[in-house]
Amino acid sequence: MEGPDTAHGIRPFARRFENAAAKLSDSDRGFRHAPGTGESTRPPSARSSRRTGEDSGGGSDGGAPLPRSGSADPYPKIELHVHLEGTIRPEKLLDMARRNGVTLPADNVEALSALYRYRDFDHFLEMWRATTGTMRTGDDFRRAVLDYALEAKAHGVQYIETTFSPINRNKWDGIPYPAMFDGVTDGITAAAEHYGVTVRAMPSLIWGVDRELAEECAQWAVRYRDRGIVGLDAGGNELARGDVSEFDRAVAIARDGGLGIVPHAGEAGGVRAIRDVLRWNPDGLQHGIAAAGDPALMAELVDRGTVLRVTPTSNVATRVVADIAEHPLPRLREAGVRCSIGTDDPALFGTTLGQEYELAERLGISPASAYRAGVDGSLCDDAVRQRLREVGDTAFGAPTG
Ligand SMILES: [Zn+2]
Repeated sequence: MEGPDTAHGIRPFARRFENAAAKLSDSDRGFRHAPGTGESTRPPSARSSRRTGEDSGGGSDGGAPLPRSGSADPYPKIELHVHLEGTIRPEKLLDMARRNGVTLPADNVEALSALYRYRDFDHFLEMWRATTGTMRTGDDFRRAVLDYALEAKAHGVQYIETTFSPINRNKWDGIPYPAMFDGVTDGITAAAEHYGVTVRAMPSLIWGVDRELAEECAQWAVRYRDRGIVGLDAGGNELARGDVSEFDRAVAIARDGGLGIVPHAGEAGGVRAIRDVLRWNPDGLQHGIAAAGDPALMAELVDRGTVLRVTPTSNVATRVVADIAEHPLPRLREAGVRCSIGTDDPALFGTTLGQEYELAERLGISPASAYRAGVDGSLCDDAVRQRLREVGDTAFGAPTG
């Protein structure tokens, strides 16, 4: 077995997944990851651990152990990195397929669940396509928001910032932009009303699409700013990303319209992928973990106050990190880079928000630190942020410094 290519446990994807990356760029530019081939990608199991209370950005955690995830009263959490399309559990996906007359690669929960535990690149690609291609109506997007809000609430979530990818659904499936944006934003309203969970959302540009498509997407996002759309993301295959300046105008449209900018960078693509997007002065980074290999870049992120949106299980499942024990979270923490914790694609990676917080805690990111980084790194308005701070102070104690 090949070992990690750096002391930080980050494997450059380029060599191992050259073929997969090429295949992605040709066949499905909406696909966001280039996962490993031929090996088990089962996510690491979560284990309980004592809270360390150690963190670089959160202050005091208070004294008594917090309730564990899955208990009746889990500690509060913030999630800033989750793709709406990746939240849909097998039973919900089957329901959606029946409603929309879409044929999935399996017709029962057991068989579909087995496919979600994908073992190689093709399985993962198949499931990503099956999931995203099954969403056909605005109501599918609304239900997905609502269902995930309920699921995450069971893990103590107070606030979710979800990404969704409308460009290819519009271009390939002809779903009108208003249907998708209405669906997502109606879901936001319903999640607050029914479950008391605050959700905000942002569409994601896809690396490599024509700049006109990116700009159109950004314009739609701005139109929905008053309904819970708070930012603009960009993602896809980092290894076939091309020149990010192609999206400069789309980013400017979003900025001028009052939206934040939080691109994916530094997942599979290394340090360069992060430096490239700093031209946009981003409000945060999805992943960003490749910075752990570059002390100067980490220092710059600290200076900028950039909060990373880190997803431990996803990083192992896609083989960006060789093993959870080698995850760069401790290095980021030691350098003072603030990290919030998310699931990325909880259904596709077989994880939950509770599990991700527990994994992060094992890696030295305390629940309080993850929560406070989430509050400070979110794109929410001041009133929501203040409420979230109060929830955090009640649960974890007021910050000491
Ligand atoms: Zn992501």
